[in-house]
Amino acid sequence: QSLQPFVYNSLPGRVIFGRGTLSQVGHEIQSLGCSKALVLTTPGQSKKGEALKADLGSLAVGIYTNATLHNPTHVADDAVELVKALGADCVVALGGGSTIGLAKAIALRTDLPQIVVPTTYSGSEATPLIGQTENGLKTTQKTLKVLPEVIIYDIDLTLTLPVQTSITSGINAIAHALEALYSTEVNPITDMLAEQGIGRLVTALQVLHKDPQNIEARSDALFGAWACGTCLGGVNMALHHKLCHTLGGTFNLPHAETHTILLPHTIAYNEPFAVAAMAKASRILGAPSAGKGVFDLAKNLGAPSSLKDIGMKEEDLERAADVAMKSPYPNPAPLERAKILGLLRDAYGGRRPA
Ligand code: NAD
Repeated sequence: QSLQPFVYNSLPGRVIFGRGTLSQVGHEIQSLGCSKALVLTTPGQSKKGEALKADLGSLAVGIYTNATLHNPTHVADDAVELVKALGADCVVALGGGSTIGLAKAIALRTDLPQIVVPTTYSGSEATPLIGQTENGLKTTQKTLKVLPEVIIYDIDLTLTLPVQTSITSGINAIAHALEALYSTEVNPITDMLAEQGIGRLVTALQVLHKDPQNIEARSDALFGAWACGTCLGGVNMALHHKLCHTLGGTFNLPHAETHTILLPHTIAYNEPFAVAAMAKASRILGAPSAGKGVFDLAKNLGAPSSLKDIGMKEEDLERAADVAMKSPYPNPAPLERAKILGLLRDAYGGRRPA
């Protein structure tokens, strides 16, 4: 296929990938010229955070363990108070998208450098994007201020990620790559990353479903997460990401599960208007169409397939369709409210895309 003209913005950042790499955090703090780190975790990963703080010795001045899904602004304000009280000069986020989101929120407010150690496949570590929730509304900003300076991938840390979270988080990553393939900013670099990312994750998730401790699959999944996250950071996204933000922020639905349930339907919605891009995706998925391929993948791996099962209320579907229609954004298929509502109803009922 001949190359089309393109624009690609590469993002600065240092990536360390391997096993046991958590031990390099101290060295990276010092390489940034810092010496007073604040360690961040969710409540669920606080023990790991405490252990990291102890390992860092005098390089860590404190720990904040209240990172929260959808990044509420009051949590960030609370953490910034602690940053100031301790005189911290950098943050170390140990965790998934919620913890990395908090690191970004602190960087946005203080300009402190970030070292992030991702333990899920959300891909947030590789993006200059931040979503924050205030009064039930989630808003997104794009600024290099929030792009982490250093990413340390330690495969060993993902061994504790429960199988179901591994699967939904992996499909969250695949969503970034699928929307990158039909982005208005599509280019050969993100295309390569998207194909690598989807391919590695699809294979790895099938292995992890049966054998969660498989190191090679954990390694492939984590690399796939970086590749897909780099797609998310590199090009604009469309209907799928818009809907997931709406549902997550407004109705407080779990992030990775929402992505997993909606993805087959949003991809099926766009597929007729992104034929070449989605043909690539269906080849990698080994399916007759990309939408059906994602649905079958998730279903075979035991992931949730219905919005009803994760707490969405039927009467809120109309409001979700309204929010999705607000402030237009580029999307391969025209945005039609009735069709989007139909898509949401299919996702609510857990139906396989037609
Ligand atoms: P999460 O960070 O909330 O993690 C989910 C749960 O898994 C948490 O309870 C956490 O403590 C636990 N956990 C994480 N890693 C674990 C491990 N290795 N072992 C055991 N438990 C572990 O979930 P997420 O899906 O990674 O992140 C979702 C958040 O990230 C949302 O707020 C979303 O908006 C944001 N996000 C942002 C971007 C971006 O580019 N800005 C991209 C993707 C996601």
